[in-house]
Amino acid sequence: MSARGPRLVLLGKQGAGKGTQSALLAEHYEIEWVSTGDLLRAAVVAGNEIGLKVSDYLEAGELVPDDIVQAVLAARFGSVDHLEEGFILDGYPRTVSQAELLESALDGHPLNVVLHLEVSTATVLDRLAGRRVCESCGATYHINLPPARDWICDVCGGPVRQRPDDTEEAVSRRLEIYEQETAPLVEFYRDLGRLAVVDAIGSGEEVFRRLVLAIDDACAEPSR
Ligand code: AMP
Repeated sequence: MSARGPRLVLLGKQGAGKGTQSALLAEHYEIEWVSTGDLLRAAVVAGNEIGLKVSDYLEAGELVPDDIVQAVLAARFGSVDHLEEGFILDGYPRTVSQAELLESALDGHPLNVVLHLEVSTATVLDRLAGRRVCESCGATYHINLPPARDWICDVCGGPVRQRPDDTEEAVSRRLEIYEQETAPLVEFYRDLGRLAVVDAIGSGEEVFRRLVLAIDDACAEPSR
């Protein structure tokens, strides 16, 4: 773990590639990757109290209430060490109220940059329709780019399936919520001077290179 890594947020529509890019960035910068979606899905799989509370929201593609998301996040990410060592937040914040909560939780360790992975709705609809995800480790595949063995994850051997919220109905609801609740964060972070817009079209490697340039650029600025 690096002594001081960047503090990053990845914003973007469902299917923009946040999960894929977060994994690459976490490895590159040796920082922790925290996905609230993964944490909530893990709670559902574990069948614990939180999981029972959130499963209907997840399946329908609705946002989980803030107090539950905050509790899950704090349990995983409560210590100040994380603020100093750096992190990447994927899927959080998702509303202006969550962004305000995050700003106060950062406690003198401001975000270095918020990366907006920009992609059209038509492209993400296409990507999500074919997306398949490992239920155990979250590795992402596409029907045109499946794992080597019959829907068995290349990374961990877990079962690779369609996410229940990748159905057409749930996807259109999630994109609607994105426009209403999450898209305003682009202006929120632009106003704070922390936004970098990155074109999310192209190969994973191309997008990754663009992200690294934007992050290194932001981290080199003395005012940040
Ligand atoms: P994701 O994997 O980021 O697409 O998240 C999957 C689902 O988890 C979302 O559709 C929401 O139901 C829930 N979720 C994830 N992150 C949040 C968040 N920050 N606030 C509220 N709900 C969330």
